[in-house]
Amino acid sequence: MNTHKLIDGKANAARVLLQVREDVERLREQAIEPALAVILVGSDPASQVYVRNKILRAEEVGIRSLEHRLSTDTSTEQLLMLIAHLNADRSIHGVLLQLPLPAHIDELRALEAIAPDKDVDGFHSQNVGGLSQGRTVLAPCTPSGCLYLLEQTCGDLRGKHAVVIGRSNIVGKPMAALLLRADCSVTVLHSRSPSPQLLCRQADIVIAAVGRPRLIDASWLKPGAVVIDVGINRIEDDGRSRLVGDVDFDSVLAHVTAITPVPGGVGPMTIAFLMKNTVTAALAQHQALRSQSEALCRSIY
Ligand code: NAP
Repeated sequence: MNTHKLIDGKANAARVLLQVREDVERLREQAIEPALAVILVGSDPASQVYVRNKILRAEEVGIRSLEHRLSTDTSTEQLLMLIAHLNADRSIHGVLLQLPLPAHIDELRALEAIAPDKDVDGFHSQNVGGLSQGRTVLAPCTPSGCLYLLEQTCGDLRGKHAVVIGRSNIVGKPMAALLLRADCSVTVLHSRSPSPQLLCRQADIVIAAVGRPRLIDASWLKPGAVVIDVGINRIEDDGRSRLVGDVDFDSVLAHVTAITPVPGGVGPMTIAFLMKNTVTAALAQHQALRSQSEALCRSIY
Protein backbone atom coordinates (compact mmCIF):
# COMPACT_ATOMS: atom_id res chain seq x y z
CA MET A 1 0.00 0.00 0.00
CA ASN A 2 1.17 3.57 -0.74
CA THR A 3 1.28 4.61 2.89
CA HIS A 4 2.75 8.01 1.91
CA LYS A 5 -0.71 8.80 0.48
CA LEU A 6 -2.48 8.16 3.78
CA ILE A 7 -3.71 11.15 5.77
CA ASP A 8 -3.16 9.90 9.30
CA GLY A 9 -6.04 11.06 11.49
CA LYS A 10 -4.59 9.53 14.65
CA ALA A 11 -1.27 11.37 14.31
CA ASN A 12 -2.98 14.68 13.44
CA ALA A 13 -5.45 14.29 16.31
CA ALA A 14 -2.54 13.61 18.69
CA ARG A 15 -0.93 16.89 17.56
CA VAL A 16 -4.18 18.83 18.18
CA LEU A 17 -4.62 17.18 21.59
CA LEU A 18 -1.05 18.03 22.60
CA GLN A 19 -1.80 21.68 21.89
CA VAL A 20 -5.08 21.40 23.82
CA ARG A 21 -3.26 19.92 26.82
CA GLU A 22 -0.80 22.84 26.79
CA ASP A 23 -3.70 25.32 26.57
CA VAL A 24 -5.43 23.58 29.50
CA GLU A 25 -2.25 23.89 31.58
CA ARG A 26 -2.02 27.62 30.79
CA LEU A 27 -5.69 28.07 31.79
CA ARG A 28 -5.16 26.16 35.03
CA GLU A 29 -2.27 28.51 35.87
CA GLN A 30 -4.91 31.28 35.76
CA ALA A 31 -7.18 29.20 38.06
CA ILE A 32 -9.52 28.27 35.20
CA GLU A 33 -10.42 24.57 35.06
CA PRO A 34 -12.01 23.83 31.65
CA ALA A 35 -15.06 21.61 32.13
CA LEU A 36 -17.29 19.72 29.70
CA ALA A 37 -20.75 18.38 30.55
CA VAL A 38 -21.99 15.53 28.36
CA ILE A 39 -25.68 14.61 28.33
CA LEU A 40 -26.76 11.16 27.19
CA VAL A 41 -30.47 10.40 26.99
CA GLY A 42 -31.41 6.72 26.66
CA SER A 43 -29.25 3.64 26.17
CA ASP A 44 -28.24 3.61 22.50
CA PRO A 45 -25.11 1.36 22.53
CA ALA A 46 -23.18 3.39 19.91
CA SER A 47 -23.91 6.64 21.77
CA GLN A 48 -22.67 5.08 25.01
CA VAL A 49 -19.36 4.22 23.32
CA TYR A 50 -19.05 7.74 21.85
CA VAL A 51 -19.75 9.35 25.24
CA ARG A 52 -17.26 7.08 27.02
CA ASN A 53 -14.56 7.98 24.46
CA LYS A 54 -15.26 11.71 24.85
CA ILE A 55 -15.03 11.49 28.65
CA LEU A 56 -11.79 9.48 28.47
CA ARG A 57 -10.21 11.92 26.02
CA ALA A 58 -11.24 14.87 28.18
CA GLU A 59 -9.57 13.30 31.21
CA GLU A 60 -6.40 12.66 29.19
CA VAL A 61 -5.99 16.35 28.30
CA GLY A 62 -6.93 17.62 31.78
CA ILE A 63 -10.48 18.78 31.00
CA ARG A 64 -12.92 18.10 33.86
CA SER A 65 -15.84 16.10 32.52
CA LEU A 66 -19.31 15.49 33.93
CA GLU A 67 -21.60 12.85 32.53
CA HIS A 68 -25.37 13.24 32.85
CA ARG A 69 -27.19 10.04 31.95
CA LEU A 70 -30.94 10.41 31.61
CA SER A 71 -33.44 7.61 31.12
CA THR A 72 -35.11 7.02 27.75
CA ASP A 73 -38.45 8.32 29.07
CA THR A 74 -37.01 11.74 29.98
CA SER A 75 -39.32 14.49 28.70
CA THR A 76 -38.21 17.48 26.62
CA GLU A 77 -39.05 19.74 29.58
CA GLN A 78 -36.85 17.71 31.95
CA LEU A 79 -33.98 17.85 29.47
CA LEU A 80 -34.43 21.62 29.06
CA MET A 81 -34.27 22.03 32.85
CA LEU A 82 -30.93 20.22 33.00
CA ILE A 83 -29.56 22.30 30.11
CA ALA A 84 -30.70 25.52 31.84
CA HIS A 85 -28.95 24.39 35.02
CA LEU A 86 -25.69 23.68 33.11
CA ASN A 87 -25.95 26.99 31.23
CA ALA A 88 -26.15 28.83 34.56
CA ASP A 89 -23.22 26.96 36.12
CA ARG A 90 -20.12 29.11 35.58
CA SER A 91 -17.79 26.20 36.35
CA ILE A 92 -19.07 24.39 33.19
CA HIS A 93 -17.71 25.72 29.88
CA GLY A 94 -19.04 23.22 27.34
CA VAL A 95 -22.40 21.43 27.09
CA LEU A 96 -22.71 18.54 24.67
CA LEU A 97 -25.97 16.77 23.96
CA GLN A 98 -25.24 13.35 22.48
CA LEU A 99 -27.34 12.65 19.36
CA PRO A 100 -29.53 10.93 18.35
CA LEU A 101 -32.15 11.63 21.02
CA PRO A 102 -35.20 9.40 21.64
CA ALA A 103 -37.87 10.23 19.04
CA HIS A 104 -40.28 11.89 21.52
CA ILE A 105 -37.74 14.62 22.45
CA ASP A 106 -37.79 17.90 20.52
CA GLU A 107 -34.17 17.84 19.29
CA LEU A 108 -34.16 21.33 17.78
CA ARG A 109 -35.56 22.91 20.99
CA ALA A 110 -32.98 21.08 23.07
CA LEU A 111 -30.04 22.13 20.84
CA GLU A 112 -31.30 25.73 20.78
CA ALA A 113 -31.51 25.73 24.58
CA ILE A 114 -27.74 25.27 24.97
CA ALA A 115 -26.07 28.65 25.58
CA PRO A 116 -24.27 29.56 22.31
CA ASP A 117 -20.99 30.22 24.16
CA LYS A 118 -21.14 26.68 25.66
CA ASP A 119 -22.26 25.03 22.41
CA VAL A 120 -19.09 22.99 21.81
CA ASP A 121 -20.78 20.98 19.04
CA GLY A 122 -21.50 24.19 17.09
CA PHE A 123 -25.14 23.24 16.38
CA HIS A 124 -26.88 26.30 17.88
CA SER A 125 -28.41 28.52 15.18
CA GLN A 126 -26.35 31.49 16.43
CA ASN A 127 -23.12 29.58 15.76
CA VAL A 128 -24.48 28.12 12.49
CA GLY A 129 -25.38 31.64 11.34
CA GLY A 130 -22.04 33.06 12.44
CA LEU A 131 -20.18 30.36 10.52
CA SER A 132 -22.20 31.03 7.37
CA GLN A 133 -21.25 34.72 7.72
CA GLY A 134 -17.59 33.63 7.75
CA ARG A 135 -17.09 34.59 11.41
CA THR A 136 -14.94 32.72 13.92
CA VAL A 137 -17.40 30.77 16.07
CA LEU A 138 -17.63 27.39 17.81
CA ALA A 139 -17.87 25.29 14.62
CA PRO A 140 -18.98 21.64 14.37
CA CYS A 141 -16.18 19.26 15.31
CA THR A 142 -16.15 16.78 12.40
CA PRO A 143 -15.90 19.39 9.61
CA SER A 144 -13.39 21.40 11.68
CA GLY A 145 -11.26 18.26 11.90
CA CYS A 146 -11.58 17.71 8.13
CA LEU A 147 -10.48 21.29 7.44
CA TYR A 148 -7.43 20.82 9.69
CA LEU A 149 -6.46 17.65 7.76
CA LEU A 150 -6.84 19.49 4.44
CA GLU A 151 -4.70 22.41 5.62
CA GLN A 152 -2.01 20.00 6.80
CA THR A 153 -2.14 18.06 3.50
CA CYS A 154 -2.65 20.80 0.89
CA GLY A 155 -1.25 23.90 2.61
CA ASP A 156 -2.95 26.91 1.07
CA LEU A 157 -6.56 26.05 0.19
CA ARG A 158 -7.32 29.36 -1.53
CA GLY A 159 -8.89 28.93 -4.97
CA LYS A 160 -9.11 25.14 -4.79
CA HIS A 161 -12.31 23.56 -6.06
CA ALA A 162 -13.83 21.48 -3.26
CA VAL A 163 -16.80 19.16 -3.74
CA VAL A 164 -18.72 18.18 -0.60
CA ILE A 165 -20.94 15.14 -1.08
CA GLY A 166 -23.75 15.32 1.51
CA ARG A 167 -25.64 18.31 2.93
CA SER A 168 -26.46 17.31 6.51
CA ASN A 169 -26.53 19.98 9.22
CA ILE A 170 -23.78 18.27 11.18
CA VAL A 171 -21.27 17.55 8.39
CA GLY A 172 -22.03 18.62 4.81
CA LYS A 173 -23.35 22.18 5.31
CA PRO A 174 -20.82 23.31 7.95
CA MET A 175 -18.05 21.68 5.88
CA ALA A 176 -19.08 23.77 2.88
CA ALA A 177 -19.16 26.93 5.05
CA LEU A 178 -15.67 26.25 6.45
CA LEU A 179 -14.26 25.65 2.97
CA LEU A 180 -15.86 28.87 1.71
CA ARG A 181 -14.33 30.71 4.67
CA ALA A 182 -10.98 29.23 3.57
CA ASP A 183 -11.53 30.75 0.09
CA CYS A 184 -12.24 27.48 -1.75
CA SER A 185 -14.76 27.33 -4.58
CA VAL A 186 -17.35 24.96 -3.19
CA THR A 187 -19.87 22.62 -4.82
CA VAL A 188 -22.30 20.69 -2.61
CA LEU A 189 -23.83 17.46 -3.98
CA HIS A 190 -26.75 15.52 -2.51
CA SER A 191 -29.17 12.74 -3.37
CA ARG A 192 -31.04 14.94 -5.90
CA SER A 193 -27.90 16.11 -7.76
CA PRO A 194 -27.97 14.89 -11.37
CA SER A 195 -24.68 13.40 -12.69
CA PRO A 196 -22.80 13.74 -9.37
CA GLN A 197 -19.78 11.89 -10.79
CA LEU A 198 -19.36 14.48 -13.56
CA LEU A 199 -19.36 17.36 -11.06
CA CYS A 200 -17.18 15.52 -8.57
CA ARG A 201 -14.56 14.77 -11.24
CA GLN A 202 -13.83 18.51 -11.46
CA ALA A 203 -12.76 18.72 -7.82
CA ASP A 204 -9.25 19.23 -6.42
CA ILE A 205 -10.64 18.23 -3.02
CA VAL A 206 -13.48 15.78 -2.32
CA ILE A 207 -15.19 15.43 1.06
CA ALA A 208 -17.50 12.42 1.18
CA ALA A 209 -20.17 12.58 3.92
CA VAL A 210 -22.90 10.37 2.51
CA GLY A 211 -23.28 7.27 4.67
CA ARG A 212 -23.24 4.86 1.68
CA PRO A 213 -20.49 2.19 1.86
CA ARG A 214 -17.85 2.57 -0.90
CA LEU A 215 -20.16 4.68 -3.12
CA ILE A 216 -17.31 6.77 -4.50
CA ASP A 217 -14.96 4.91 -6.81
CA ALA A 218 -12.27 6.17 -9.19
CA SER A 219 -14.91 7.22 -11.76
CA TRP A 220 -15.89 10.09 -9.35
CA LEU A 221 -12.35 11.46 -8.99
CA LYS A 222 -10.00 13.65 -10.98
CA PRO A 223 -6.51 12.09 -11.01
CA GLY A 224 -4.54 13.63 -8.14
CA ALA A 225 -7.53 14.69 -6.06
CA VAL A 226 -7.24 14.87 -2.25
CA VAL A 227 -10.02 12.87 -0.58
CA ILE A 228 -11.45 13.15 2.93
CA ASP A 229 -13.76 10.24 3.74
CA VAL A 230 -16.13 11.11 6.59
CA GLY A 231 -18.34 8.03 6.14
CA ILE A 232 -18.46 5.33 8.80
CA ASN A 233 -20.42 2.32 7.57
CA ARG A 234 -20.54 -1.12 9.15
CA ILE A 235 -20.64 -3.92 6.57
CA GLU A 236 -20.45 -7.70 6.56
CA ASP A 237 -17.40 -8.80 4.57
CA ASP A 238 -16.54 -12.50 4.19
CA GLY A 239 -18.62 -13.21 7.28
CA ARG A 240 -16.75 -10.49 9.23
CA SER A 241 -18.25 -7.23 10.43
CA ARG A 242 -16.03 -4.22 9.68
CA LEU A 243 -16.07 -0.47 9.12
CA VAL A 244 -15.67 1.08 5.68
CA GLY A 245 -15.99 4.62 4.42
CA ASP A 246 -18.07 6.21 1.66
CA VAL A 247 -15.05 5.90 -0.65
CA ASP A 248 -13.92 2.63 -2.23
CA PHE A 249 -10.47 3.04 -0.68
CA ASP A 250 -8.61 0.22 -2.47
CA SER A 251 -9.82 1.14 -5.95
CA VAL A 252 -9.10 4.89 -5.66
CA LEU A 253 -5.73 4.76 -3.89
CA ALA A 254 -3.66 4.71 -7.11
CA HIS A 255 -5.74 7.60 -8.44
CA VAL A 256 -5.44 10.16 -5.61
CA THR A 257 -2.72 12.35 -4.13
CA ALA A 258 -3.87 11.69 -0.57
CA ILE A 259 -6.79 10.08 1.25
CA THR A 260 -8.03 9.45 4.81
CA PRO A 261 -8.48 5.80 5.81
CA VAL A 262 -11.56 4.48 7.61
CA PRO A 263 -11.10 3.89 10.48
CA GLY A 264 -8.21 6.10 11.61
CA GLY A 265 -8.94 9.14 9.44
CA VAL A 266 -11.63 11.67 10.33
CA GLY A 267 -12.93 9.81 13.43
CA PRO A 268 -10.08 10.76 15.82
CA MET A 269 -10.21 14.38 14.60
CA THR A 270 -13.83 14.79 15.74
CA ILE A 271 -13.02 14.15 19.41
CA ALA A 272 -9.83 16.23 19.21
CA PHE A 273 -11.83 19.23 17.97
CA LEU A 274 -14.44 18.71 20.70
CA MET A 275 -11.62 19.16 23.23
CA LYS A 276 -10.29 22.16 21.32
CA ASN A 277 -13.76 23.76 21.28
CA THR A 278 -14.12 23.19 25.04
CA VAL A 279 -10.86 25.03 25.73
CA THR A 280 -11.82 27.82 23.29
CA ALA A 281 -15.18 28.16 25.08
CA ALA A 282 -13.51 28.26 28.53
CA LEU A 283 -11.13 31.00 27.43
CA ALA A 284 -13.89 33.05 25.76
CA GLN A 285 -16.16 32.80 28.83
CA HIS A 286 -13.33 33.81 31.15
CA GLN A 287 -12.49 36.82 28.96
CA ALA A 288 -16.18 37.84 28.80
CA LEU A 289 -16.45 37.65 32.61
CA ARG A 290 -13.28 39.72 33.02
CA SER A 291 -14.58 42.40 30.62
CA GLN A 292 -17.90 42.48 32.53
CA SER A 293 -16.20 42.94 35.90
CA GLU A 294 -13.85 45.61 34.47
CA ALA A 295 -16.87 47.48 33.06
CA LEU A 296 -18.60 47.18 36.45
CA CYS A 297 -15.52 48.58 38.22
CA ARG A 298 -15.37 51.49 35.76
CA SER A 299 -19.08 52.26 36.38
CA ILE A 300 -18.60 52.21 40.20
CA TYR A 301 -15.37 54.25 40.50
P1 NAP B 1 -26.92 12.11 6.70
O1 NAP B 1 -27.52 13.08 7.64
O2 NAP B 1 -27.62 10.82 6.43
O3 NAP B 1 -26.66 12.87 5.30
C1 NAP B 1 -26.22 12.15 4.18
C2 NAP B 1 -26.16 13.09 3.00
O4 NAP B 1 -25.74 12.36 1.86
C3 NAP B 1 -27.52 13.72 2.66
O5 NAP B 1 -27.35 15.11 2.43
C4 NAP B 1 -27.94 12.99 1.38
O6 NAP B 1 -28.67 13.79 0.48
C5 NAP B 1 -26.60 12.66 0.75
N1 NAP B 1 -26.68 11.50 -0.14
C6 NAP B 1 -27.27 10.32 0.09
N2 NAP B 1 -27.12 9.50 -0.98
C7 NAP B 1 -26.43 10.21 -1.90
C8 NAP B 1 -25.96 9.92 -3.21
N3 NAP B 1 -26.17 8.72 -3.78
N4 NAP B 1 -25.29 10.88 -3.88
C9 NAP B 1 -25.05 12.08 -3.31
N5 NAP B 1 -25.45 12.41 -2.05
C10 NAP B 1 -26.14 11.48 -1.36
O7 NAP B 1 -25.44 11.69 7.18
P2 NAP B 1 -24.34 12.52 8.04
O8 NAP B 1 -24.78 12.62 9.44
O9 NAP B 1 -23.93 13.74 7.30
O10 NAP B 1 -23.14 11.46 8.00
C11 NAP B 1 -22.58 11.03 6.78
C12 NAP B 1 -21.58 9.92 7.06
O11 NAP B 1 -20.55 10.43 7.91
C13 NAP B 1 -22.19 8.72 7.84
O12 NAP B 1 -21.55 7.55 7.40
C14 NAP B 1 -21.82 9.01 9.28
O13 NAP B 1 -21.72 7.84 10.06
C15 NAP B 1 -20.45 9.64 9.10
N6 NAP B 1 -20.05 10.54 10.18
C16 NAP B 1 -18.78 10.41 10.66
C17 NAP B 1 -18.32 11.23 11.66
C18 NAP B 1 -16.91 11.06 12.15
O14 NAP B 1 -16.57 11.54 13.22
N7 NAP B 1 -16.02 10.43 11.35
C19 NAP B 1 -19.14 12.23 12.19
C20 NAP B 1 -20.43 12.39 11.66
C21 NAP B 1 -20.87 11.54 10.65
P3 NAP B 1 -30.16 14.39 0.82
O15 NAP B 1 -29.91 15.56 1.73
O16 NAP B 1 -30.68 14.78 -0.49
O17 NAP B 1 -30.90 13.28 1.50
